[in-house]
Amino acid sequence: MRVPNAKKHAELPNPLSVPPTVIDPYRRTRLPLAAIATGLKTTLKVFFRKPVTYEYPEVRRPIAERYRGRIGLELDLCIGCTLCAQACPNGTCFMVDFKFEKTPEMNAKFPNKKDKMPAVDTARCIYCSLCEEVCPTGAIHMTPEYELSRTRKDQVYLPVLLQKTESEIDAMDPAEVAKMLAEGQRLITANDKVRI
Ligand code: SF4
Ligand code: SF4
Repeated sequence: MRVPNAKKHAELPNPLSVPPTVIDPYRRTRLPLAAIATGLKTTLKVFFRKPVTYEYPEVRRPIAERYRGRIGLELDLCIGCTLCAQACPNGTCFMVDFKFEKTPEMNAKFPNKKDKMPAVDTARCIYCSLCEEVCPTGAIHMTPEYELSRTRKDQVYLPVLLQKTESEIDAMDPAEVAKMLAEGQRLITANDKVRI
């Protein structure tokens, strides 16, 4: 059998007798010093660099100014025109009869004579912001809220919940929140929405 470069190799010394060097006569790396140096260089470079990770949830990453988070609603601006529900491409935003939640004080304060306000199934929302764009009064808008991990049926927000931040909802009486979420769920599963 013909061994490639057999003559050349025959002239070289026995590899076992060659002292350790970076490159041996057989072109095999004996001591990977160059590789170690490259690795150390990379380690040192990264060691002094500012970390790009955030220790969530203690530290939160700043969000963009126009970030589209959960829908919010200003109850005192809504006039019940239903444009948001009409613009919503997948029925996420729908009108509800607001008498369920409306107290006499709210009746006196808010200009919405129709008693119709939008509710939002946040689990289905695609954050397209069309509802915000068509709203003539700026009542419905995208908020920076993005921590929305809840069970599926806890995500239908009635108007009173839509006007609050997630931390405000967490500070509310849990029984009251549960009642509102259950009513939102009942409305959407019974398809008991207000016709628009
Ligand atoms: S952001 Fe889009 S999907 Fe979500 S409620 Fe508004 S219109 Fe509907
Ligand atoms: S939130 Fe805006 S678009 Fe929707 S019903 Fe109220 S005023 Fe009309």
